[in-house]
Amino acid sequence: VNVEVLAVGTELLLGQIINTNGAHIGGRLAEFGLGHYRQAVVGDNLERLTEAIRETAERTDALIITGGLGPTQDDLTREAMCGAAGVEMRHSEEYEDQLREMWARRGRQMPASNLRQAQFPDGAEMLPNHKGTAPGLRMRIGSCLVFALPGVPEEMEVMLDRFVLPALVGEDRGERGVIVSRLLRTWGESESRVAELLADIYSGSTNPTLAFLASGGEIKLRLTARATDAAAAEAAIGPMEAEIRDRLGGLVFGADAETIETVVLDACRRRGWRIGAAESMTGGLVAAALTGVPGASEVFAGGIVAYTASVKDAALGVPASLIAEHGQVSAEVALAMADGAVDRLGVQVAVAVTGSAGPDPLDREAGTVIIAVRTPAASRVRELMLPGDRERVRTYATTAALHQVRLALAQGDA
Ligand code: ATP
Ligand code: MG
Repeated sequence: VNVEVLAVGTELLLGQIINTNGAHIGGRLAEFGLGHYRQAVVGDNLERLTEAIRETAERTDALIITGGLGPTQDDLTREAMCGAAGVEMRHSEEYEDQLREMWARRGRQMPASNLRQAQFPDGAEMLPNHKGTAPGLRMRIGSCLVFALPGVPEEMEVMLDRFVLPALVGEDRGERGVIVSRLLRTWGESESRVAELLADIYSGSTNPTLAFLASGGEIKLRLTARATDAAAAEAAIGPMEAEIRDRLGGLVFGADAETIETVVLDACRRRGWRIGAAESMTGGLVAAALTGVPGASEVFAGGIVAYTASVKDAALGVPASLIAEHGQVSAEVALAMADGAVDRLGVQVAVAVTGSAGPDPLDREAGTVIIAVRTPAASRVRELMLPGDRERVRTYATTAALHQVRLALAQGDA
């Protein structure tokens, strides 16, 4: 089948909320190997919504609509489906009773506007919503199978899995395949350099395909293969993955769910070591990143945010004289912060970050980042110059700090 997705809501057009429903549905359709080449967003306007549904139903096998099923006047999906299908609106006595019961259980009087949720286009089936009040809808418009799901993501996701995906898989006329993808994570080279190293693989690839994604200073490569079953898709990805790993060598640090945080925590865990952080310009972002991983407490001991010179002295034991001599953004101070973290946090591995996030320079030019890592075997310090605004510099510095820990543990420093 060929599936399209239509997200309804003026707030999506205005950028007030992000269309995560579209992303979620796209991901699920891909996992199920269902053909999916187009998505759209339409505001809360009856004419345009009706038109969008009618047009889409004419060209595609299935349409998934999200949003606009609520009780208020601007929830227009039901009306638009009637218009696109050329059918009357019906009222479900049964669903009205259920709605009244739901409200009674909450000890509240149901506002009359909620009766809208008991309405359905003639010929449509109502899909129960166990997490909310708006039922979903399923109907055919011409030869197109149309589903309408609530906009609230948690409600939509449950109903997608329960009603929509099984129906679409059943609807499929045999051209269905399985899609398998592998994410290779790299750090240390620019996107253009990575692309250059893989140029011939990229241009020659149709199945598997290769895509580049840059985020937070890392370059990710997504290899995607479509085949009749998972084993065949894996077999198609294998040789391309091996060739890419061979060419990129140490630039590849993980695959799929192996993020830099999990790689760092696992490397420490294997050695029976604990890690701690001493942060100035990242203000706790390194600690936040590591504690975002479930089970981090076995490995991550804690972090100290030492922003001013006096706190670097008091909390980390970085001598005021050292700061006076070299400045807060210096290799000497970064190393002393790492030593202080080992000492004060009782850890074997410490990472320290100091720098100038901008926009105004602090000691050094904005974008200067100095990262020190101390392990039981050695200390290392790296100075980077990161481009971009304050937010970007802090994000990239956080990623870079974690990678410096990985490199310190991998390159025999430890
Ligand atoms: P409700 O019964 O809650 O009104 P609804 O079907 O009418 O549900 P909307 O009113 O369109 O849905 O959206 C409800 C909320 O769901 C929005 O305020 C928003 O937070 C979220 N939402 C709607 N559409 C999307 C979307 N495409 N992606 C992510 N979140 C969405
Ligand atoms: Mg609504």
